[in-house]
Amino acid sequence: MQGIVSRIKIRGTEILGLVTVCAVMLSVVNPVLAKENLIIRQRQDHDRHATDYGVNVTTELPAATIKRIEGTIQGNFYRSGRAAGLSPKVLQRFVTLFQRQIDFSRDLRTGDHFEVLLTGTSGSNPELLAARLHLTKGTFTALKDQDGQFYTEDGLRLGTSFSRYPVGKGFRISSDFNLRRVHPVTGKISPHKGTDWAVPVGTPVKATAAGVVVRAVKNHPQAGNYIEIKTAGRYVTRFLHLDSLNVKSGDRVKKGQIIGRSGNSGLSTGPHLHYEMSIDGLAVDVMKVRLPDDSLLSDTELAGFKARTEKLVVLMD
Ligand SMILES: [Zn+2]
Repeated sequence: MQGIVSRIKIRGTEILGLVTVCAVMLSVVNPVLAKENLIIRQRQDHDRHATDYGVNVTTELPAATIKRIEGTIQGNFYRSGRAAGLSPKVLQRFVTLFQRQIDFSRDLRTGDHFEVLLTGTSGSNPELLAARLHLTKGTFTALKDQDGQFYTEDGLRLGTSFSRYPVGKGFRISSDFNLRRVHPVTGKISPHKGTDWAVPVGTPVKATAAGVVVRAVKNHPQAGNYIEIKTAGRYVTRFLHLDSLNVKSGDRVKKGQIIGRSGNSGLSTGPHLHYEMSIDGLAVDVMKVRLPDDSLLSDTELAGFKARTEKLVVLMD
C-alpha cells in the first residue's frame, strides 16, 4: 500500500481515508488470489472536504475460469459499472435481476458497493455467475444455479418471470400440446407443438414474459399473422393466427402487455389462439413446463442449490 500511495502522490492528510477505503475493499478479497489489479481514482468534489476515492479491484482467480470484479457507486450504477470494466450486457443482466427489489434510480448512494463473478477470463462474452449489491437498505445477492436461473441465497427465484396464460383465464383450451397427435383428416402423426385457446376474434393477447419481439409477421401461409418473442436469451414464445399486431420486430415488451388481437388468420379452421414455447430451441408443453416465476425453492431444492453455489458465495465473501 505504501508503494501505491507514494506513486500516485496523495497528500498526507488524505492517506488515512484512502487506506481505510482500500482496507475495506481488500479485506473482502480472498488472500489466495493470484493476481490483483488495483485502480484508484481520486474524486474532487466542489466541497474540498468531500474528497473521496473510487477503488476498483479486478481479480483473476486461480482457477482462471471465474473472474471477480467489484466497484463503488459514483454517480449512476451504469457509469460505475462501466468504469469497473463491466460490459453493457452484464450490466443489463445485473439490473434485470434486481429490478423488483431495487429501484436503481433511487436506492443507490455514492459509496455503495457492488461485485460480480463472471465466467472466463478471456473471450468477449463473459457471463454473469453471481452479483451482489451492498446498499444502505441491505445486501442483495443473486447466484446462478445449474438451471441457468438466478436465485437469492434464500432460494427466491430472480429476474424473468412468466405467466402461463396469454389470454384471460376464462377461456377454454381446445387443443393441447401433443407430439403424437393424429391428424383428423390424413390419419398421420402430426405433432401439435402448442396449446390452442378457443377465443373469439379480437380477444386481447398478452406477452407472457418481458422480452424482445424477434418476429412480427403478416400473412404467413400457415401461421397467418404471428408474433415471436425472445426472453432471457433462451425462451421463445409464439402467438399464431392473430387478427392484428400491436408490436413490430425489435420492440421490447413487458409481461402482460397486449401485443395483438386473436383471430383466424393463416391455416386455421376457426377462431383460436395457438400459443407455443421453445426453450433453447426445443418445443415444450407451455402448460406443463416449469417456468421461471417468483416462487421459492422447496427445502430439498434449497439444500441442493446451496451446495452447488457455495463456491460462488465463498468467492464473494
Ligand atoms: Zn395449434
